[in-house]
Amino acid sequence: MLYEHVVCAFCGCVCDDIDVTVEDGRITQAKNACVLGKAWFLDHGKPTDLPAVRIDGQAASLEEGIDAAASLLARSHYPIIYGLSSTSCEAQRQAVALAEVLGGCIDCCTSVCHGPSGMAVQGVGEPTCTLGEVKNRANLVIYWGSNPAESHPRHMTRYAVTSRGMFTPNGRKDRTVVLVDVRPSPSSRAADIQLTVRPGKDFELLWALRALVQGQKVEESSLADTGVTLEQLVDLAGRMKSCRFGVLFVGQGLTQSRGKHMNLTAAFLLVRDLNRTTKFALMPMRGHGNVTGVDNVLAWQTGYPFGVNFSRGCPRFNPGEFTMVDVLRRGEADAVLSVASDPVASLPNSARRRLADVPVVAIDTHDSETTRIARVVFMAATAGIGVEGTAYRMDNVPLHLSKVLPTPYPSDEEILSRLLARVKEMKP
Ligand code: SF4
Repeated sequence: MLYEHVVCAFCGCVCDDIDVTVEDGRITQAKNACVLGKAWFLDHGKPTDLPAVRIDGQAASLEEGIDAAASLLARSHYPIIYGLSSTSCEAQRQAVALAEVLGGCIDCCTSVCHGPSGMAVQGVGEPTCTLGEVKNRANLVIYWGSNPAESHPRHMTRYAVTSRGMFTPNGRKDRTVVLVDVRPSPSSRAADIQLTVRPGKDFELLWALRALVQGQKVEESSLADTGVTLEQLVDLAGRMKSCRFGVLFVGQGLTQSRGKHMNLTAAFLLVRDLNRTTKFALMPMRGHGNVTGVDNVLAWQTGYPFGVNFSRGCPRFNPGEFTMVDVLRRGEADAVLSVASDPVASLPNSARRRLADVPVVAIDTHDSETTRIARVVFMAATAGIGVEGTAYRMDNVPLHLSKVLPTPYPSDEEILSRLLARVKEMKP
């Protein structure tokens, strides 16, 4: 059986042109997908004999699992729900409702990747566009602190570099590609210009670029420790001002290095300045398949994109206080619900050590470090393979996730909505 135009929900590119072949109840081909997408479709399509629910390592029914997880969460004083970047918006919505009823915190993977971008957007606004506009119009493409060749393998070919669009009919020949990073990477091969910035000096470089774009004088000596010469920066500023349509893609090299949200504030302000003379946009290179979706869902429902707390009955936002790493590090959480993520494998040591001290409920599509320590484990259908739903591409365009395989497991949405109903009964 062939399913056409299936969406791949592995990375933030959310490619919607995958042709999936299913034979004998297994996915055997994912045409058009990159190596990461192929692995995602083929691995998640494998049959598994893991029980749908485990309580303390023993197989249990869904009803028993819901009861055990709900009583554990309802008894807690400061629970935190975390993850959600690899599930559907429908499930994310249930998780927000559950956090509100519990009066706890809800945080997503954004807080450890592009949280600083979200904070900068709140401070200075977001001059952005869609990937369709990039494909059709952009003749200057800058990747800053990002290595798309490895992290988003089809980003360059499908949207930004070699793709042919309405006003870029010659594809690669119509574009200038600039890479700014602390070292050359596999993406460097695709770049016309590579600027190597010293680690931790991105803010200084962005601020100097702002000055040049505004026509101000910049001394060579002020760039001495950035690793970039004044000549290189003047050239880049000139290209940025004179391009027809430019786009700056920012990666975790900017969000997770010294300066964090101030780096992003500088980048957004630079793009705002450029829009006085040309058309320019900025887009964060979001990693997980639906991490953009969880930011959107949280923002619709609470006003904030991550790190939200409901303990006073209304949503409050404070990165550093209500974010997963910080709540764990301070030893405040007394229960954790992990959804479609693996905090034990991905959080810093100081935070993940604490996970061993609190009861954990895990909902995931496969076994992981987190399901191994969790008291209650739910195996869920993969959104986009075993269950339908909605995911947001990195440019905030929502796409429909298809179901291509039958699965014995319930969806994240079903598990979370049943948990919500049970917690409401226990915690009026
Ligand atoms: S680029 Fe990302 S979304 Fe596209 S096929 Fe590869 S992993 Fe999937």
